[in-house]
Formats: sequence, structure tokens, C-alpha cells
Amino acid sequence: MIYLDNAATTQCLDGVVDVMNNYLKHDYFNASSVYAPAVKVRRDVENARNELLDMVFASNHKLLFVSCATEANNTIFESATLRSGDKIIVSAGEHPSVFECAKQFQNNGVEVCVVDLLPSGEIDEEDFARKMDRRVKLVSVMMVSNETGAVNNIKRICKIAKKVNPRVLVATDGVQAFGKIDVCVDDLGVDFFVMSAHKIHGPKGIGALVYRKDIHISPLLWGGGQENGLRSGTENVAGIMGFFEAAKLSMKNQKSNFEKVQKIRDEFIDEFQNSGVKFSVNGNGSPFILSLSFDGIRGEVLLHALEEHEILVSTGSACSSKHSDNRILSAMGKSQAEVLGNVRISFNAHDAYDVKNIVKIFASTIEKLKG
Ligand code: PLP
Repeated sequence: MIYLDNAATTQCLDGVVDVMNNYLKHDYFNASSVYAPAVKVRRDVENARNELLDMVFASNHKLLFVSCATEANNTIFESATLRSGDKIIVSAGEHPSVFECAKQFQNNGVEVCVVDLLPSGEIDEEDFARKMDRRVKLVSVMMVSNETGAVNNIKRICKIAKKVNPRVLVATDGVQAFGKIDVCVDDLGVDFFVMSAHKIHGPKGIGALVYRKDIHISPLLWGGGQENGLRSGTENVAGIMGFFEAAKLSMKNQKSNFEKVQKIRDEFIDEFQNSGVKFSVNGNGSPFILSLSFDGIRGEVLLHALEEHEILVSTGSACSSKHSDNRILSAMGKSQAEVLGNVRISFNAHDAYDVKNIVKIFASTIEKLKG
């Protein structure tokens, strides 16, 4: 099998599984219990928390362990204490865990402004500056697009926002950034930063919300008062420790992983260019993601045809739909044909890719489907 959908999720590394195994089989104690083995587990969790904060250089922030980035993004919206008449800004490129959340608040009378994307996939900062006013309570703009890999200049966006309204809360979804590109929360100036373990070879079911120390967090879950009362429910210790291990490995190898994946992405583009297949690249930024639009073919049909060759990719547009349902590519100004012909391939730094052969299979599959 050739797995080319690492933006969706990644395989757990052996070292991560080993660490988790320890906390599932041996140090399995409830981190809130008071006997010595449980106190050791609590210490491990708190150490992981502090080290994760250090990894993203967040000296004015705290870290809340949550079940996933979706929960973190929802917690941010809840914590912004939005009321009817308030205004929030999100980009057109946001992941559904932000975009759909904004829509829910819109149903409750909150004004939601959606910032345009440039053809490159980054947000249109001029449009953002136009839409930003003193009424805006929350801005949420992702750091790296999960669709195209486009990288937003969060520091600049944060500066624009805070200049207009120093009290505005600025959040960035860092799910496709953390462990892959440099992140310095202090430098970005954001109030919230979101991470998810399963995008960096950690387990599913664990993520983190990094939030500025003086911000009031509104819990989504009430109960036993874990996580300082901000997220009740017995801590997912194996998940937390697996996340921490995956993060350590990602940070240690970040530079070499980046360079390796950059080469792979370039090689894919070169091979596609040599193959005679007509295609275009959507967006440019993080090398871990390559969004392509193939001419005269539906992405979904190609996805299933490639699956027969055990090549796994993803696509944003649904085959059954007459209309494009990829709001992000549409927001970038891509044509209907480009949206429908979209396939996203995404890499990791651990697999070896026989790029020539993979592109050959792509090309012959496309030719066959067109024929
Ligand atoms: N944000 C981005 C940019 C993502 O790529 C994803 C996952 O696809 C999420 C949020 C949601 O992550 P989780 O699966 O941890 O909820």
C-alpha cells in the first residue's frame, strides 16, 4: 500500500506505541489518584504539558489537553463568550472544526465575516484589514491549510487585529504546522494555538489547546474537575504521553524531515510534468501537502481507481455533486473543472516513495479513465 493521505492522519511511530503501551499496561493509574504510582503518572503528565508548551515557545500561555483539535477549536469559540451582535472573523480556508463552529454562532445572532483567500491559498490580508473593526471579538485563521499547504502570516494578521482592537482574541489552528514548521507562539502574538497528535505520528483522540494565561476558558465538559476544572473526564494518560513522544520526535527531526519531504514534493511535481498528464498545483507552502487538479477527470473517480492500485489519496470534491463542494478551492478562485479534478496527496518523512512508479500509475490510470 502507498499511503499518500498524511494530512488526514499518520501512522503511529513504534517509539510512540512503546510509550503508550507502558502507560496502558504498567503505569496505567488514574492521574488524579493520590497513591505514589498515580502521583508519578501525574508528574509525567505535567512534565509533558510543560515541555509541549516549551516546544511552541509559549511563555505566557497554559496548555489544556483535549480529545482532538476539533474540541480545542470549539472550546475557543465557547470561551470567547459571544453574544448576539458580536462579530467574529474566520478565513474561507478554515477547517470545518472552525468554519462550522462559526456557523453555529451565526445561527445565534453573531455576525460572521469570512475573509477571502488569494489564488495562492493564503488569506487576503487586505480583505482581512478591511473587515477588522473594534466590534470583532474573535479572529480565527489557520497557520497551514490542510487542503493546499498554504501558510498564513499569523504574526502579521495578529498585529493587524490587535492594532484595531487590542482586546480581540486571536486564535490559530496549528494542526498542520506543529512539528512540521517552526512555531513560536510568543512571536506570533496569538491568544490561542491548537495542536493534534495524530497528524504527527501520535495517537488519535488527543490534542491540545494552548491559551494565554489570563484568558477565561469556558469548559465544554463538566464533571470531576480534571484539567483544573477546564475539561472534566479522566485524563487520557497514554494518549498524552504518546502525543508528547510524537512531538519530541517531530521536533528533533523537524529540519531534516522538512527537507526530505520538500524533495519528495518537488520530485512529484517534476515527474507529473514529465508524464504528459495535464494538471495544475493548488497553493504552495508546506511541502507536506500537494494539492493537484487534473484536467478532464473527476478527483473522486481517480481516487477510487488509484485505490485499486493500493494508492491512497484524498479529494475535497464529491463525485455525486454537480456543484463543487470544495469551498476552499472555490474561495481561491479555482474553476469548477479544477475543483472537480482535485486530488490531495500528502507525505510523511518516514516512508520511502517510489515517485517515478507512483506517477506512472497515476498517468496510466488517468489515461484509462479518460479513454
Ligand atoms: N484543523 C486542521 C487544520 C486539520 O487538518 C484537522 C484534521 O483534519 C483538524 C483541525 C481536526 O483535527 P482533529 O482530528 O484532531 O479534530
